[in-house]
Amino acid sequence: MARHIYVHNPFCARKCPYCDFYSVTKTSLCEEFYHAAVREAGILGGVISKTDGTNPLTDADGRDTIYFGGGTPSLPDSRFICELLDAVRKAFNTASDAEISIEVNPSSADPGKLTEYLQAGFNRISLGVQSLDDGVLKTLGRLHDSKGAIEALEKTSKAGFTNISADLITGVPGETLDGIRKDIQTFKDLGVKHISTYSLSIEEGTPFFEKYKKTIEELVPPEEERAMYHGTREFLNELGYETYEISNSALPGFKSIHNSSYWNSCEYFAIGAGAHGYLGDMRYGHRDDVRAYIEEMNTIAPDAYKAFLEGNESGLRSLYAEERLTVEDKMREVPFLRLRTAEGILLDEFKKMFGIEFEDVFDKAVKSNIEKGLLERKERTLRLTRSGLDLANVVIEDFL
Ligand code: SF4
Repeated sequence: MARHIYVHNPFCARKCPYCDFYSVTKTSLCEEFYHAAVREAGILGGVISKTDGTNPLTDADGRDTIYFGGGTPSLPDSRFICELLDAVRKAFNTASDAEISIEVNPSSADPGKLTEYLQAGFNRISLGVQSLDDGVLKTLGRLHDSKGAIEALEKTSKAGFTNISADLITGVPGETLDGIRKDIQTFKDLGVKHISTYSLSIEEGTPFFEKYKKTIEELVPPEEERAMYHGTREFLNELGYETYEISNSALPGFKSIHNSSYWNSCEYFAIGAGAHGYLGDMRYGHRDDVRAYIEEMNTIAPDAYKAFLEGNESGLRSLYAEERLTVEDKMREVPFLRLRTAEGILLDEFKKMFGIEFEDVFDKAVKSNIEKGLLERKERTLRLTRSGLDLANVVIEDFL
């Protein structure tokens, strides 16, 4: 019966022009933020019951996970990060074999910090490399260059981490498939076990939206972007990385358990400003507001936190319920989450969860997508075909 905890670290040295994750560049509130987060972990651990956040049915791996994402968790003093991890582990009484990940930006991959992370219990590093092409990194407005990224990967191995993941962004104007292949080969040579490849998406409200909203399809035509996606995936597979989710590939034994918990509809707790969680029937979160978070977490009574988890939001500024899910909503989330995975929808799991056959609920969407060649049924699984991968959003839309 595993538990999953996401910790959002909302500070960045500079805002990347394509990013719409919540983070602030003013770090003067760092110390107060981590103090408040330690308090939140303690309160949360004290008010949850033994079965909150455990998913015996859907959690195939069964290991606890803690994920420090951001923002840039490697930016603040490592003392804050290590103290918070310690508080989270104690509060949730996480198992000694828990997967504990931290996102590290190459620009702040300091050897001293990396060693302290390892000693504190982190056993998986996710490096935000994005590209090893200086032109692409410049377009993305990243703080590091390719040399800095390679050095960061070397430092991470040298510090003693063996479970290393690296991110790549594809579909950036000026990027080529050859360049991506070269980057992946370098990752492999440097001991990277897990590679996330995200297509650049132009999000409203970001500087990239203003710059590229009208031109991105001219600069990177969709067919070129798709060819890049398939070419990247084929090369990863050639090198032994199994693509287990649309954007994630891993060498055997190195899939991200934390991310898999999301796709398995597992519950997870949220700690930190801008963090989102899922518990019972509620998708919930903390508002994108560091100041409100600090004030609330410094003063909230355990009973008020417990009441929030039970459905009472009155008087709260940071914590809020984003959505309350009906059984039908939960059923619809299964294709939404599982069709992104290579395994696809496990029909027996669905039946165990809801007591009804998936195809009895989604008969029309299943049939029409199988007829169009976008979905295939193999024994007791349903998954996207190669053509379906290119139209994943359209297929998923049919189930919503
Ligand atoms: S470092 Fe990461 S979280 Fe921060 S602005 Fe850049 S992409 Fe976003």
